[in-house]
Amino acid sequence: MPAKRGAVASSSKDAKRATWAVRRMPILGNQLDLERCPHCSVDRPNLGMQFEVATADYLGQNPRHWRVYRCTRCGGLVTGFAVAPNTTAIRFYPETARIDKSIPERARGYLQQSLNSLHTPAGAVMLAARAVDAMLKAKGFRQGSLYARIDKAAEDHAITEEMAKWAHDVRLDANEQRHADEEVPLPTPDDARRSLDFAMALRQFMFVLPARVQRGLGEAKPGPKPN
Ligand SMILES: [Zn+2]
Repeated sequence: MPAKRGAVASSSKDAKRATWAVRRMPILGNQLDLERCPHCSVDRPNLGMQFEVATADYLGQNPRHWRVYRCTRCGGLVTGFAVAPNTTAIRFYPETARIDKSIPERARGYLQQSLNSLHTPAGAVMLAARAVDAMLKAKGFRQGSLYARIDKAAEDHAITEEMAKWAHDVRLDANEQRHADEEVPLPTPDDARRSLDFAMALRQFMFVLPARVQRGLGEAKPGPKPN
């Protein structure tokens, strides 16, 4: 049985499944068949073509056929091009965001799930908070509330002061969502996007960039040192 996509990743196996998306280019047809809307992340979006245009470069070469599609759920536009209509798309914009593999599996699962649930903002905020929580734990920040651990991470220079300030400007308080009372307004899609943006930036700062630097250092090494 395939994993239910809407489910919260509860084990490393589930987290692995959460990064299910397989790179597969859709056909530039009257509908664009994407797994998720790149704007609202709704599953199997209804993307109908709105208009199309054929272009070439200034020498009349590089012919491309462009089609623009609209998500009926959120109204967001997706543009794609191919060499001819009804052939496999070469690129489409915006691309569906994907979670880099250089972050811990559990955090990756939560981030992917948060991304996939942007159309349900309260869920997306909670999942972004869990991703932040998992990333901090993976770096050894385990004591106290989420915000206290973010501040500690800044104190220890694991993140910048500005990032810690940013954290306080977004909604990450999972408890606030779980025990939501009428006093606390429900998160908006903008709140969800902001929380996810922060979690994605944290991922970039704590895991993706250091991994890239390590790879760069490895490539820069002239070879084994003579001993
Ligand atoms: Zn959409």
